[in-house]
Amino acid sequence: MNDIKLAVLGSEGVGKSALIVRFLTRRFIGEYASSSECIYRKRMSFDGKQMNLELYDPCSQPCEGQFSLNEQMHWAEGFVVVYDISDRSSFITAQAIVHLIRELHLGVTKRDADSVVFLVGNKQDLCHVREVSREEGQRLAAEFKCQFYELSAAEHYQEVALMFSKVVRNTSLNGKAK
Ligand code: GDP
Ligand code: MG
Repeated sequence: MNDIKLAVLGSEGVGKSALIVRFLTRRFIGEYASSSECIYRKRMSFDGKQMNLELYDPCSQPCEGQFSLNEQMHWAEGFVVVYDISDRSSFITAQAIVHLIRELHLGVTKRDADSVVFLVGNKQDLCHVREVSREEGQRLAAEFKCQFYELSAAEHYQEVALMFSKVVRNTSLNGKAK
């Protein structure tokens, strides 16, 4: 059985919980309480293999079992770094997080492969109040060798599911060289 540990990181309010809940339940609820449980667990089948998926969602309020950023980075094998396309400051935070992941050379493989990092511009439905262009997102992703997605947890279930499936798949392939 493969275990996959993913951390979903980014500023508060960018939609980390919304994306995770959308992926796991298909639903977009609207309000996401900062629960005391920060790790969602789900057994899933990918490419015909059973996997235990663990998704770390940082709580907005301090809670029991909350990891420090450093701990989050060392715990995870793959990363989804989220910003809100209508909030420039969240893009700057995402940039700092991606930079930190690469700087720490976090990876799960012996062959020094880069760890899997997906950069996600969420809230694409708010493009009328966009503050971060798609090109800026693409450039940042290219600079740090990340996959890039722009999507909306509110409106794009298929894209959200596809994005998470790819992170899981890439992370699992990356871990094979262990
Ligand atoms: P977190 O702090 O990163 O976990 O953010 P949340 O998941 O709690 O979302 C913060 C707010 O943004 C909530 O009010 C969500 O309903 C809203 N939100 C999340 N995703 C989207 C989206 O794709 N579009 C819009 N318009 N709002 C969203
Ligand atoms: Mg949250």
